[in-house]
Amino acid sequence: MCVAEMREALWTLRQAHRLCLPRAYSRPVIDLGTLAGLHAHDHQLEAYCPHCDRWEVLPLAELIAAGHGSRRLPIRVRCQHCGEVGRLQVRPPVPTRGPGGWMEPPTSGVS
Ligand SMILES: [Zn+2]
Repeated sequence: MCVAEMREALWTLRQAHRLCLPRAYSRPVIDLGTLAGLHAHDHQLEAYCPHCDRWEVLPLAELIAAGHGSRRLPIRVRCQHCGEVGRLQVRPPVPTRGPGGWMEPPTSGVS
């Protein structure tokens, strides 16, 4: 293989990479690490106070509207009742009952 052929082969390889690599990595990444990402993908963020044994759903839409959408987890939350540091739990969307949702136990043919 002469130098010209090698250059052409290398150029072809580069072109192939230019065509293939962006396609392979073009899938959008779902970022669930931010408040905005959680809200955009129908997740909920709940906070638990171990002192009060109380759960609270954090108002993601309000937090995003107030400019906190880019904040990354974990964020520090405090109980509105006792001031204790809360524990966070991310909750994915729950499928609704019925077709495409949770499986229902068979209701017919059981005696
Ligand atoms: Zn509390």
